[in-house]
Amino acid sequence: MTKMSNSPAYLRASLKTEKPIVYVDMDGVLCDFDKRHEELMSKGINQFQAFNHAFAFKDLDPLPGAIEAWQSLQEKYDTYILSTAMWSNTYAWTDKRIWVQKYLGKSANKKLILSHNKGLLMGDFLIDDRIANGVADFTGEHIHFGTEKFPTWKEVLDYLLATKQNEKD
Ligand SMILES: [Mg+2]
Repeated sequence: MTKMSNSPAYLRASLKTEKPIVYVDMDGVLCDFDKRHEELMSKGINQFQAFNHAFAFKDLDPLPGAIEAWQSLQEKYDTYILSTAMWSNTYAWTDKRIWVQKYLGKSANKKLILSHNKGLLMGDFLIDDRIANGVADFTGEHIHFGTEKFPTWKEVLDYLLATKQNEKD
């Protein structure tokens, strides 16, 4: 082994930063899954089949303000995408990876985490429209997207970019 390959930084090979960590869900937060789901069902595909359809997660439209919000969070936070890909729909796993590169670009390189247990992840905030797949067990703060308190990205950004949220005690 060379000297460099023994260095702590090389051995850790992590993206760790000192900024607070924010996880961002995909369907219903960054991407408009509901629109696609309704499109598929309008073609006579039933609900179960629509979830498992090859195009169910392919190139979904971003939700209003989502891309700009992701970029806005970069300066103050270490941001990750934390999504659950349907186990039964293998296309979903690839399509989510492609979506992240297409719409979030370089700031999201290697920042996609796919998990059925979001509660295992350590961090400060999780922006998610549901409590399923471990969100209810997340030990940081769940920002419940789409609720009365956080109906759109505007309210989420107002909250996260407020000065008090950036001062870690
Ligand atoms: Mg969701």
